[in-house]
Amino acid sequence: MKLFDAHTHIDMKHYKNDREMVIQRAKDTGVVGMVTSSINPGSFRRTLGIVQKHDTYIYHTAGCQPSLLKPAEAEKILHLIDKYADDIVAIGEAGLDYHWVKDSKKRKAQEPLFEKFITKAQDLGLPIVVHARKAEGRAADILEEYNMENVLMHCYDGPSEVTQRIVKNKWYVTLPANFGRYRNRVQAAEMIPLELIMLETDGPYLSPVEGRNESANIIHGAKSLAEIKDIPIEEAAKITTENAISFYGL
Ligand SMILES: [Zn+2]
Repeated sequence: MKLFDAHTHIDMKHYKNDREMVIQRAKDTGVVGMVTSSINPGSFRRTLGIVQKHDTYIYHTAGCQPSLLKPAEAEKILHLIDKYADDIVAIGEAGLDYHWVKDSKKRKAQEPLFEKFITKAQDLGLPIVVHARKAEGRAADILEEYNMENVLMHCYDGPSEVTQRIVKNKWYVTLPANFGRYRNRVQAAEMIPLELIMLETDGPYLSPVEGRNESANIIHGAKSLAEIKDIPIEEAAKITTENAISFYGL
C-alpha cells in the first residue's frame, strides 16, 4: 500500500527524542513521503535540516501559526521563504483562526497577513496550504478574491456551503487520520470527489490512537475514507497519494 502524509510537523519537540524512529515507522507502514509544515522562523530553520537529511522523502511547506502571528514575524518568515524558495514545495499553512482568536479586530488583523502569504505563493508559483479554523467561509472569500488556484484546505472541517465552493473551485482538502469522528469531515468526504482529497496526520496533533500522533497513523484515515467512498483501502491510499504528489509537484 502507498500512503502519503500530506501535512505534519515533524520538526516539533514532540519528536525530538525519536524522530528517526518515527520516520522509519512511517516507511514500514507504507508511507512513501510526507510534507512537513514549519510555523515560525525557528521551525523553518529546523525543518531545513530535517528535509536535507531526508531528501526525496520529507518536503517542506513554509508557513505560520495564524492565531499567534505578528506582522514582524510574518516579515521574517517571508524573508526566509525568498531566501530558500528552491527548498520548499508550498507556502503555508497560513490563513485565519477563529477558534483561538475571538476578538473581531484581532480576527480582521489576520487578513492582511494571510494575503501576504497568498501573494508570496503567487509570486513564486507555489501552491498554498490554508489553515482556516472556524473561518472556512472567510478564507474562501479571500482566496477567491485573489483568484488563487492551487489551494489545499488543510485539516478541513467546514460546513457544506463552503465544501460546495471548494469542489467548484477544484481546491483540495486534507482530512486528518481521525476524521471519521467528526460529522463535518465525514460529510466533506462524502461530498468531495476522491480526486481532490488527501490524507494528513497533522502530527503530533489529532491522533486517532492514544498519545502523540505520527505519520504511520495515516492508515486510519485511509481506512475511514475507503469505507465512506466504498472502495478498497489500497485504492483510497493510492489516489490520495497521487493527489499529494500532484498538488505539491513532487
Ligand atoms: Zn498543521
